[in-house]
Amino acid sequence: ATPTALMVGTGRGAQLGILLKGPEVLESTRAVDTVVLDKTGTVTTGVMTLTGVHLADGEDRATALRLAGALEHASEHPIARAVATAAQEAASGALPAPRNFENVPGLGVRGEVDGHTVLVGRERLLADAGLTLPEPLAAAKRRAEEAGATAVAVAWDGAARAVLVIADAVKETSAEAVRRLRALGLTPVLLTGDNRAVAEAVAAEVGIDEVIAEVLPQDKVAVVERLRAEGRTVAMVGDGVNDAAALATADLGLAMGTGTDAAIEAGDLTLVRGDLRAAADAIRLARATLGTIR
Ligand code: ADP
Ligand code: MG
Repeated sequence: ATPTALMVGTGRGAQLGILLKGPEVLESTRAVDTVVLDKTGTVTTGVMTLTGVHLADGEDRATALRLAGALEHASEHPIARAVATAAQEAASGALPAPRNFENVPGLGVRGEVDGHTVLVGRERLLADAGLTLPEPLAAAKRRAEEAGATAVAVAWDGAARAVLVIADAVKETSAEAVRRLRALGLTPVLLTGDNRAVAEAVAAEVGIDEVIAEVLPQDKVAVVERLRAEGRTVAMVGDGVNDAAALATADLGLAMGTGTDAAIEAGDLTLVRGDLRAAADAIRLARATLGTIR
């Protein structure tokens, strides 16, 4: 393409809310055939709210929220924000500061609150500590997940004692964005660290058939590499610190402008308004800018 065409393409991108790292990015954008979409914060709003608390026999809601909320207060994760906010409201004020706080990426958090050892996260985090959810709580968790919500387990003093249900709405524009990507002949893939049932529910809601769930943050790169090894030209769209390495590994990395700085730095292109429809616009623009010229 001529420098003028690239300049025009770049300028038109800016009007559409698409920022390119450099004009050469249009070249990789045009070639994409597969678009991997992170779930939380990309396809969904990422603004989560606590919608339910399930307790083991004899436990009380205030204690569960206080212990989980105090721990999650130290985490930046959208799930953590939802839990900490609800806990602060319930306690009408300050929560104790946790000690020995530890974030376990893709699994959850652990630490000590008021002298209790507390874990909040996936069942795997609890299993690693030799703990399992009692059946009524496991059943509540399954029901929430089948409905498309995220559920996390809470353990303290050596037993799993609560399940917290957190709901995250699909963005209004996501289904239309997926339709537009498909209309361009692209295959959308949903990639998430979240549970398979939640992922399937979100995928069904927006019209995605290919779902890769329960992927640890460090393994998102391997998923992108595997798709590339299959001969696909892969765009990755993400927002989180968790997505940065995968954005850098993909043939084309698209960062949500509403996401973290780490994602924006790792991406080749930024969707300024965090509107997934701009991903389709970017590909259409690249094709229009370069397609007729070579
Ligand atoms: P995604 O890939 O959808 O952005 P993550 O990889 O960040 O999701 O997290 C995967 C899963 O790990 C979450 O669905 C949740 O079950 C658990 N998890 C991660 N961080 C936390 C946290 N701070 N508190 C509770 N659960 C967490
Ligand atoms: Mg995310």
